[in-house]
Amino acid sequence: MKQALVGRALTKRFGQTVALGGVDLAVRAGEAVAIMGPSGSGKSTLLHCLAGIMKPDSGEVHLLGGRIDDMRERDRSALRRTRFGFVFQFGQLLPELPADENVALPLMLGDVPRQQAVRQARDWFGPLGLHGMEGRRPGELSGGQAQRVAIARALVSKPAVVFADEPTGALDQSTGHETMRLLVEATKHNGACLIVVTHDPNVAGWCDRTVEVRDGHLLAGGVRA
Ligand code: ADP
Repeated sequence: MKQALVGRALTKRFGQTVALGGVDLAVRAGEAVAIMGPSGSGKSTLLHCLAGIMKPDSGEVHLLGGRIDDMRERDRSALRRTRFGFVFQFGQLLPELPADENVALPLMLGDVPRQQAVRQARDWFGPLGLHGMEGRRPGELSGGQAQRVAIARALVSKPAVVFADEPTGALDQSTGHETMRLLVEATKHNGACLIVVTHDPNVAGWCDRTVEVRDGHLLAGGVRA
């Protein structure tokens, strides 16, 4: 299958700390990959470099064959909004906006008119088990519901890749289980690939493949690009 996202020989230092020491990782279209490893091993740095949030010191990142790490910040920011979706540990929803507008936000930032964006956003509520929650503010949602709203927001612009950083870290086990099931299912249903940073083997168990990071290097499972 075609490779969707490829990181080649990625390095990143913070002062004397080598956060990434030359990482190769290729993720195929439709594939779900877990990035595991102890705290401080470089997982978040790898995710941030792949997602265009951070520029690697050296190496390259390619999305669907096009290089993205050397884009100007403005272009990378547009790319993050249109081609990538993000789910973080704490949903990071805007507390003052109702759930449907939170989901619609990436579309509105991309200049889709508000009404149309909210209509598109609402289509996600049924499939994610959120029927009737459209008008609730994040404070009126359970942790699991809020993460499902965050999943809808990550997918609403039909991204090529969804990045998730400890998406179930703040949830109890059974809610976390259900959240991962929905995240993997909805992402695959939309033809996107999924990259999940986690220290939880149960979360990784939902993915097609796990790669282990130790001291800024990949131990196993990375496909050389
Ligand atoms: P993980 O996600 O596996 O916990 P990180 O990628 O966050 O690991 O960090 C890898 C290493 O880089 C750690 O030693 C961490 O302290 C260091 N590091 C990460 N981000 C920064 C930063 N902004 N400034 C300084 N050091 C950092």
